[in-house]
Parts: sequence; structure tokens; C-alpha cells
Amino acid sequence: MKPVLCDPFPTGFAPVPVDGCAICTELGARQRKARDAGNQSALTDANVLLRRHVRQAHGS
Ligand SMILES: [Zn+2]
Repeated sequence: MKPVLCDPFPTGFAPVPVDGCAICTELGARQRKARDAGNQSALTDANVLLRRHVRQAHGS
């Protein structure tokens, strides 16, 4: 079952925070806040940071 997300980016572009990781939690909150506020540039920033962190720290 895939959750339905209100995400302007196609699957694979927006990174998913890893449960139990403090940095993911922080960046995930930032991502959600930017999305809720409709702030595209902040959302892009958060996505870039989160994706980079997930790749480096979690290897995906
Ligand atoms: Zn993480």
C-alpha cells in the first residue's frame, strides 16, 4: 500500500526521511513545513539536503 502524498515532485525525486534518524527527522520536518507553506524554493532546498543526507548516511 502506497500512501497518497500531496507532493509536487514525481516519485523518486522527493526523498523519504528514515525513521529514527535525527537528521532525517529535522529535514523531513523542514520539507513538510515548506510544503505546507507552499514555499517551493524552501521545499526544493529541503529535498536536496534530505536526498543528499539519505544517500550519504543511509546509502540509498
Ligand atoms: Zn538520516
